[in-house]
Amino acid sequence: MATATDTTPRAAATHEVRTYGHFIDGAPTTAGANMIERHSPADGALLATYTNGTREDAEQAIRSARTAFDEGSWPTLTGMQRSRVLTTAATLMRAEQDALARIEAEETGKPLALAQGDIAASIELFEYAAALAATAHGEAHTELGENCTALVVREPAGVVGMITPWNFPLLQVAQKLPFALAAGCTAVIKPSEFTSGTTLELARIVTAAGVPAGAVNVVTGEGGTVGAAFSESDLIDLLSFTGSTATGRKITEASAGSIKRLSMELGGKAASIVYEDADLDDALDGVLFGVLFNQGECCVSGARLLVHDSIADDFVARVVEGIGKVTVGAPTAEGSEVGPMIHAGHLDKVLGCVDTAVADGATLLAGGTRLSGPGFEHGNFVAPTVLDNVTATAPVFTEEIFGPVLTVTRFSDVDEAITLANATEYGLAGSIWTKNIDKALTTARRMRSGRVWVNTTIDGAPALPAGGMKQSGYGREMGQAGFDEFTELKTIQIRTGTRTPVFPNWTS
Ligand code: NAD
Repeated sequence: MATATDTTPRAAATHEVRTYGHFIDGAPTTAGANMIERHSPADGALLATYTNGTREDAEQAIRSARTAFDEGSWPTLTGMQRSRVLTTAATLMRAEQDALARIEAEETGKPLALAQGDIAASIELFEYAAALAATAHGEAHTELGENCTALVVREPAGVVGMITPWNFPLLQVAQKLPFALAAGCTAVIKPSEFTSGTTLELARIVTAAGVPAGAVNVVTGEGGTVGAAFSESDLIDLLSFTGSTATGRKITEASAGSIKRLSMELGGKAASIVYEDADLDDALDGVLFGVLFNQGECCVSGARLLVHDSIADDFVARVVEGIGKVTVGAPTAEGSEVGPMIHAGHLDKVLGCVDTAVADGATLLAGGTRLSGPGFEHGNFVAPTVLDNVTATAPVFTEEIFGPVLTVTRFSDVDEAITLANATEYGLAGSIWTKNIDKALTTARRMRSGRVWVNTTIDGAPALPAGGMKQSGYGREMGQAGFDEFTELKTIQIRTGTRTPVFPNWTS
């Protein structure tokens, strides 16, 4: 039996353990012979078991999505018809919002209130995509002359493979699936082996809403088996991946033979730049929220504080004081603001990065340890951490840690702030704190990032596209761009009247 976490010792299960098969061709399959156990990252109790999918399982699900696209009704429906189904799906999701949030909080360890926000945001994405389905249109060109009318039509990209991570399980799927369905695509999804619950529940819900059998399939299991089968498949037209840059590279290589389209939402190492003229109360709140949101297990986490020399000492002292007041705890623990790391291996990785940073010369100002004592006995809890005097070449500055760990680096002017912000291989997001619009816009324009926030952080809306530059990937999710991603353009040129022969001798 495979085990997705090795947190020990474990608390006994206090509720029914959920057991799942895959979801293929419009229905759940029976649980497999080989199951993945998901234990709570907060107390180690067994939460659920997922079928450890085989290559054959993946191929069956891919064939189901292929048949649904090539022979099924979904791609042929009108935009209004697809829109209605997506709207119904949103309504059904809302009816199950609490249950979905509870599954996500249990499996990820994030505070329940945060999980509720994630589900609410996922529902909004379905509603937004429903609107896009209803209003999608192509272009007509009449400027080509009286005898030529050209149509540029948007057609569904085809069968979309989706591979998603564990940090926002349903939200990551909701940034893809409703947009793909709105465009008329069919889908086969592989959620993370740590957090497959809500994706399977979603497949059931969208099917109940009217998505036809085969149009949405879910195969659970490990990346090296199920994910690899997606990458190599000739039956998938577009593979939309969210996860680490390292896995993105593997998928890119494994997909090369099939020449499928790829969309890559990869890692990040966002900077929070605090200028000397910022509203420092706002900036403090933003910096703490930026690094602690979702335990720092967030691709756009503000993991690097870049702060102007003239305010650095006072500001960092306030950061350290503030981080000491944060409540770490289990998802449903009273007042919990920061949960445990997703699994024991990740906890070890995060603490190892901190140790290496200190050995490299960083100054540990807060945290850096595993929390112990009442409430923490069985979980992967890290004390929120601040590391000062971090240089731009230190691995803790350049590499994604994915935990509640803030590095501090000082700068003396705008140029240096921008150089530091851009000094990693990533280009996903960043925040700027200043009251000076000139400085804000100059910095924002020169940051090589797909998203920049000014005097705010980790905000979003369904209409706003998200995605990366550099090694953070390519392609955009959400917004009109997130819909267009799941379409192909086809140009149809129509000539009217008598055609002027190219070679008149042939016809005379
Ligand atoms: P991961 O790369 O380990 O896994 C992501 C998914 O890929 C999982 O479903 C996994 O099973 C699968 N996978 C693993 N190996 C595979 C392979 N060889 N072929 C195909 N699939 C494979 O990432 P994770 O640890 O689950 O998530 C954390 C990472 O995700 C971080 O790097 C984070 O920055 C990134 N992320 C990015 C965004 C974004 O929008 N850019 C959003 C969320 C998370």
